[in-house]
Amino acid sequence: MAEPRVAKTHVEVRRSARRRRMVSAYREGDTVVVLLPARMSKGEEEHWVAEMLSRLQRSETRRRSPARTSDAALLTRCEELSGRYLDNDAEPTSVRWVPPMRTRWASCTPTEGTIRVSERLRDVPSWVLDYVLVHELAHLRVPGHGKDFWELVHRYPKSERAMGYLEGISAAAGLGIGVEE
Ligand SMILES: [Zn+2]
Repeated sequence: MAEPRVAKTHVEVRRSARRRRMVSAYREGDTVVVLLPARMSKGEEEHWVAEMLSRLQRSETRRRSPARTSDAALLTRCEELSGRYLDNDAEPTSVRWVPPMRTRWASCTPTEGTIRVSERLRDVPSWVLDYVLVHELAHLRVPGHGKDFWELVHRYPKSERAMGYLEGISAAAGLGIGVEE
């Protein structure tokens, strides 16, 4: 996967005359939609957009993966994902949590069937960790990043969204991390 370049969260503000006080936000594809009362000032809008983005991120981070707890749990999750998205045809010999890597979220050695996942991902939402696991599992079948590879990865429906999420946290932390290579 390519190195991340910019953090971009598309935000769409929708104002409603029927809303008086309630502010809410949700994701719609790659976009965060923020719903605001029609009468809010520009300054209030800026405040609430920033506030809702950070609340949304916090609530997503709380939905962490059970795979975070151990290497065995990580392997179990890989088996589930392989069954669901990769025809049960991506069986790693080992999957391990490893100390944070400087430029990678995860890596694999296809010839040995081993996958390593950076500790930095322990606290991301489960759907983001699942994307990283599907990416590495797909490499057990297709080593490079060609068309065949991405066809496999995109069987996981939240791939694009997870890539955006990882780019965002990498850029926010000034890390410059890609999935691997
Ligand atoms: Zn890759």
